[in-house]
Amino acid sequence: MADTADIVVVGAGIIGMSIALQLARRTRARIVVVDKGLGPGEGSTGASSAVCRHRYTRTETTTLARDGIFAYRHWPEFLELRDPVARFHDHGVLWFGGLDSEWPDREAQRLQSLGIRAAVLDDRALAARFPALSACVEPPDVASAAPHACRGGGRHLFEPDGGYVDPVDALQDLIAAARARGVEVRFRARVAGIPVEHGAAKGVVLADGTRLACAHLVNAAGPWCNAVFALAGLPCPWPLQPTRIQMAVVDRAGDVAGDIPVCADPTGGIYFRTQNRGQQLIVGSVREEDEQEQVADPDDFPTYADDDFVRAKLYLLQHRIPTGARPSGVRGYSGLYTMNRSDVHPVVGATPLQGFYVANGFSGHGFKLAPAIGSLIAQEITGQTIGFDTSVDRRFLAFDRSPIALPSKNVLA
Ligand SMILES: Cc1cc2nc3c(=O)[nH]c(=O)nc-3n(C[C@H](O)[C@H](O)[C@H](O)COP(=O)(O)OP(=O)(O)OC[C@H]3O[C@@H](n4cnc5c(N)ncnc54)[C@H](O)[C@@H]3O)c2cc1C
Repeated sequence: MADTADIVVVGAGIIGMSIALQLARRTRARIVVVDKGLGPGEGSTGASSAVCRHRYTRTETTTLARDGIFAYRHWPEFLELRDPVARFHDHGVLWFGGLDSEWPDREAQRLQSLGIRAAVLDDRALAARFPALSACVEPPDVASAAPHACRGGGRHLFEPDGGYVDPVDALQDLIAAARARGVEVRFRARVAGIPVEHGAAKGVVLADGTRLACAHLVNAAGPWCNAVFALAGLPCPWPLQPTRIQMAVVDRAGDVAGDIPVCADPTGGIYFRTQNRGQQLIVGSVREEDEQEQVADPDDFPTYADDDFVRAKLYLLQHRIPTGARPSGVRGYSGLYTMNRSDVHPVVGATPLQGFYVANGFSGHGFKLAPAIGSLIAQEITGQTIGFDTSVDRRFLAFDRSPIALPSKNVLA
């Protein structure tokens, strides 16, 4: 069977669906999204912690995060849907300070200069706002589990407009909003071929033999992106590596007082947030050494978390919430980051293959950035800017850019 579209997006994850919606918000072109999965959320998006924090080292990345989070915070208006399923869990994001007591003030000023609300909390302010949390400035030694005396006196950065979203709810909303604007979203539709003629991608061939011709084709295949590059015959100069990322899940103890924000603990090496109406905590790592397990086949990797990982992260969580976890309810899971080993930033936009665009290598940042990434690609393809667009120059993440200089190459970059 042969069919024609104007734009085909490969992948209905948070990136592909954000691109499709952002295109449909500005063009009547025929847009088709194809996904090999049985339904929404089978890729990285389904496993995402979907933490929405603003602070990044680079101003452009912070601005993209700000613009993405603005869309999530104004979700019904952004989608133009009256009753979306997802909601922004408005708990704020707390960055525990370490021994560098000037860092939170510097960062708060930097965020404020970009129009992002930020505050610095001392121990007393932190205890008043979040009584369950320990403000200790030194992490315990996980390896030796030696007795640890907590030490206060630090300063902590708080982003009141951060939070999180349920990632699959957000995906379902994007699919509903895109379909309402005429976008066709097909599941069980694996791209098995990409015809190329005279240096231009001409469409896709699905595994069932269906041919779909198009002028613009977007690779939003998440950890499967390298297979899509190969189908197009385009060598990718960026080292985009599917990487197993483990998470621990803990039932929250009944006597934890007050609210718990999304917490980033750079000295301890963890982040955590509530889920399931606050009844559970999920705990992930911010350490580079936990982002090294490259996966050869994104369809075949251990989806559980290793006991050692869960034990170590739970120990660090208990340091931060001494009364926090019910040890009986401890488990874990794994999902995939697509790490861009060059600079832990995605590559987004046109490629040397005419008509072939990419949005790949999100390195653990893709959920919060997605609305802004959709905006970048849609601006590039249609030439139009509209409300909710980001003003970040698309050359910042372009396929032919140089690697971005960064002090560290982990998820906190
Ligand atoms: C454990 C974990 C925690 C995370 N936490 C955060 C966080 O707190 N904040 C944040 O911003 N980001 C976070 N991320 C990162 C974020 O989730 C990802 O960057 C984002 O989900 C990537 O979305 P995607 O659409 O590119 O990929 P995916 O969600 O993987 O979507 C790709 C889609 O492409 C489809 N596909 C692949 N190949 C083909 C083909 N040949 N034909 C048709 N379809 C195909 C797949 O079925 C899949 O549905 C986290 C990720 C993980 C794993």
